[in-house]
Amino acid sequence: DGEVDFKGEAKFAQHMKKGEAVSEFAMSKTMAEQRQYLPIFSVRDELLQVIRENQVIVVVGETGSGKTTQLTQYLHEDGYTINGIVGCTQPRRVAAMSVAKRVSEEMETELGDKIGYAIRFEDVTGPNTVIKYMTDGVLLRETLKDSDLDKYRVVVMDEAHERSLNTDVLFGILKKVVARRRDFKLIVTSATLNAQKFSNFFGSVPIFNIPGRTFPVNILYSKTPCEDYVEAAVKQAMTIHITSPPGDILIFMTGQDEIEAACFSLKERMEQLVSSSSREITNLLILPIYSQLPADLQAKIFQKPEDGARKCIVATNIAETSLTVDGIYYVIDTGYGKMKVFNPRMGMDALQVFPISRAASDQRAGRAGRTGPGTCYRLYTESAYLNEMLPSPVPEIQRTNLGNVVLLLKSLKIDNLLDFDFMDPPPQENILNSMYQLWVLGALNNVGGLTDLGWKMVEFPLDPPLAKMLLMGERLDCIDEVLTIVSMLSVPSVFFRPKERAEESDAAREKFFVPESDHLTLLNVYQQWKEHDYRGDWCNDHYLQVKGLRKAREVRSQLLDILKQLKIELRSCGPDWDIVRKAICSAYFHNSARLKGVGEYVNCRTGMPCHLHPSSALYGLGYTPDYVVYHELILTTKEYMQCATSVEPHWLAELGPMFFSVKDSDTSMLEHKKSRRKRNQEWRKRWRN
Ligand code: ADP
Ligand code: MG
Repeated sequence: DGEVDFKGEAKFAQHMKKGEAVSEFAMSKTMAEQRQYLPIFSVRDELLQVIRENQVIVVVGETGSGKTTQLTQYLHEDGYTINGIVGCTQPRRVAAMSVAKRVSEEMETELGDKIGYAIRFEDVTGPNTVIKYMTDGVLLRETLKDSDLDKYRVVVMDEAHERSLNTDVLFGILKKVVARRRDFKLIVTSATLNAQKFSNFFGSVPIFNIPGRTFPVNILYSKTPCEDYVEAAVKQAMTIHITSPPGDILIFMTGQDEIEAACFSLKERMEQLVSSSSREITNLLILPIYSQLPADLQAKIFQKPEDGARKCIVATNIAETSLTVDGIYYVIDTGYGKMKVFNPRMGMDALQVFPISRAASDQRAGRAGRTGPGTCYRLYTESAYLNEMLPSPVPEIQRTNLGNVVLLLKSLKIDNLLDFDFMDPPPQENILNSMYQLWVLGALNNVGGLTDLGWKMVEFPLDPPLAKMLLMGERLDCIDEVLTIVSMLSVPSVFFRPKERAEESDAAREKFFVPESDHLTLLNVYQQWKEHDYRGDWCNDHYLQVKGLRKAREVRSQLLDILKQLKIELRSCGPDWDIVRKAICSAYFHNSARLKGVGEYVNCRTGMPCHLHPSSALYGLGYTPDYVVYHELILTTKEYMQCATSVEPHWLAELGPMFFSVKDSDTSMLEHKKSRRKRNQEWRKRWRN
């Protein structure tokens, strides 16, 4: 019964019996044996030979064949780390950390010693590091300091098929490094998709195929479109657990909220089942994984469950290709994923839920056939798969804001971005849009060159508006305060709000409210934590996440290092925080909104409606301010402004004259709309020609 109805169960049960034996075998091996059992091991010597003979190669192999964990070790074993190091880029932070940890275990060294990783604001490498895993963003930033990447002997661009924005930019940059440095090698790895395209881009370089070793996966579609896929997935997982032979379950969801909801619901149902059943119920180990999950909890997905228990991993698309867990026999695919997309209506990027592509769908299904023949339950119809899904995902560079990339390429003296060697050039409109936003922030001058401010902004591994906020903090003598705010905005929310204790935690949060501003509320939290000697128990008492705060402290100290390098003095404005709000305003006036009703606003530029978030400190003012700026919009049931601050209208006019002009503080800011539009159009025209 229920919304999801599958065909072919019986056929699958036969498959399973055979699969079990393989799984037992895989479980009982030592790490060294496991290494030799991986498909890549059978072609190790050939592969190294091809690498010796070529400067650039593309390596193609099924997920789980050993590309990420083994290739770097082979290069190390073959002597490439004698004079230089091996770098391996990942589009995802979680993957960089988790893989580095795994490899350090395989090589029996401490993580951060011979094997290390670097992600934004976290560098776990040392003088001995010879294999460095990092996000593609980290390597991209390294090219700013060292355009030839001299310390690297080999760079493995892993997961290139993901086509992340940074990977795409790296392609163009590394192509030049390859041309300049004969001693430099580049290895691009990819799932089958795109390999030929990558090869062509680098001048028809060899493609090396790792022979696959996969088992058939029985694919079962939902007969009707499913209305609530979280519920449907939970139900399916429970059905499998109760009725199907051993084998772990992997569920694909879109993000943290859904994952938490699904895990919660699974836990509840298991408890019900155990209490209501007379027979012994096998334990179900429910394991979430998403990028913001603390590392120690992430590692749990790889642990072997206690005797007989079945694992049920609930993941974002991180488990599509970046992480491989053995022992999965059942995949439940909701058919959706989150993607960052530039939303022209909002004039900014937003993470939005989209149907996945057919390529991603096949990739998800494949996760069930790694250890033995498996089953994939697709919670969508076959017709949706065939007729509605795109064949492959749209590269990020074609769908997101390019502000950071433009800033970075400009600082690399690539003046005309339309000439940059992109594998798939971004739409011209995207480039222009991003340049326009940088111009508005004051990072670009009228002829498209970097301003002094722009040059300074490049130094910070931050989105342009945050970098601008920081530098305005300098100008307005409140950089100490702004630095804290920027750091707090760079980590996940520090407020802890367990479902069972919502009221108490809300009350605890309210004590920190600075009624004019959610940003200042964050500042307040941090300062009080500092006054209490950065204590962990103090955090617990106040429903604050100590891990998040510690992370913010770390980010703060790293940004402080950069400020020192730039010889920017840390100055505080003391207890009068009005000026801090002005600094915030200077960076976010493109996200400014005007009051329309209680808690209801419209974006000043786009007229788009947006709402104060129920958790906002601004409700504490007793009235809702006429104008606010906000950090970002989150789209849930409504468009909510995440982190808002009340601002004076004349600040908007002063700081964003290209947007706003005011006669006196209360008249409409859209007064001179026409002349403003003309000015903006002229600017754009200049760029088009
Ligand atoms: P690929 O990059 O080709 O997808 P990987 O090198 O990531 O393959 O993984 C190879 C194998 O290493 C996986 O099948 C899995 O068995 C094992 N493995 C990888 N990471 C871990 C980990 N953190 N813990 C346990 N096993 C792992
Ligand atoms: Mg990999």
